[in-house]
Amino acid sequence: NHEELRCIGCGTIIQTKNPEALGYLPQAALDKKSENEAVYCQRCFRLRNYNEIAPASLTDEDFQKMIVEIGKKNALIINVVDIFDLNGSMIPNLTQYIGKNDVILVANKLDVLPRSLNPNKLTKWVETQVRSMGLKTKAVLVMSARHEYDVYELLELVATHKKNRDVYIVGVTNVGKSTLTNAIIKYETGISDLVTTSRFPGTTLDQIEIPLNDDSILIDTPGIIHKGQMAHYLNTEDLKLVSPKKEIKPKTWQLNSDQTLFLGGLARFDFVSGAKQGFTTYFDNELEIHRTKSQGADDFYQKHAGELLKPSVSKNLDRHEFNVKGKTDLVISGLGWISVSGKATVAVWAPAGVDVLTRSALI
Ligand code: GDP
Repeated sequence: NHEELRCIGCGTIIQTKNPEALGYLPQAALDKKSENEAVYCQRCFRLRNYNEIAPASLTDEDFQKMIVEIGKKNALIINVVDIFDLNGSMIPNLTQYIGKNDVILVANKLDVLPRSLNPNKLTKWVETQVRSMGLKTKAVLVMSARHEYDVYELLELVATHKKNRDVYIVGVTNVGKSTLTNAIIKYETGISDLVTTSRFPGTTLDQIEIPLNDDSILIDTPGIIHKGQMAHYLNTEDLKLVSPKKEIKPKTWQLNSDQTLFLGGLARFDFVSGAKQGFTTYFDNELEIHRTKSQGADDFYQKHAGELLKPSVSKNLDRHEFNVKGKTDLVISGLGWISVSGKATVAVWAPAGVDVLTRSALI
């Protein structure tokens, strides 16, 4: 009876359906076990054998319990977010739960933004955005978990703000939390048995502990899926097609009103009214953008979704209309954004449930 089977590492119920949720074990691996043999979930297996952390996510309810637990401690919190999708990767209501604890905000994946951006300006921009979302921070670091030097810089920052407290790394899924934690583990080499798991008191949620070279520990925690993000509606293959891996190359489109851009089959941008002007798109370089007339765009979509316009989702696209006065980004959470610099009425279509919002222009 698989429902009763628990991982002997973290105590989570073993499941074979969702690789990103806790307790995952591939069916094939489970089939190889004899009846009463002890099992580790894949996450604990990797941790034991390779000192490597795999991403994991929780239900909203469990995540909230965990954040509340962390809020009760005297801790330093590192909140990792994705700079490519700042709004979509913030933890909803984090401030409400963290109590008096200090927060360092890490805006990860800097490497996907155009290199021409001034890092200081970018940090200021992130600070402003985060403050407007109601989160108070001790420090903001714009970085790339892929770059060793940035990891070093983060550890310096942590050392400054830690004041003998334990350090918790929190974030929604897909922001690069595991990548960052693994990079930190690499840094702290030389300590044997580097990583251990333990339980949040009163829950079955595992936490992963990495001893730091003073007496404190760094604790990696599972994330939650942010439902307003595009990632929530795509399968793994399609997700790869839309998540930038490298520096994105913006493209500027000179459009007349009544022209439309299709962003693969996932979203659509209509220039409803205004003088002819340039719109700049910031999406994964691999995402194909098609220009058509707005009149007939519905039929065009019906005919080509999933083929010429790919990837696509089976959900309907919802229409969001905006009157823009100047220098604004129209953000499709997790997919990218379109910047408008003139006066225009525009409409953005995105799958039902995906957040579409405006912000002051990043670039
Ligand atoms: P988690 O769910 O927050 O633990 O996220 P992961 O560490 O699994 O990372 C999610 C995706 O983002 C993976 O495809 C990573 O390769 C990618 N990623 C992580 N850090 C970076 C980074 O610094 N730059 C870029 N471009 N991608 C990153």
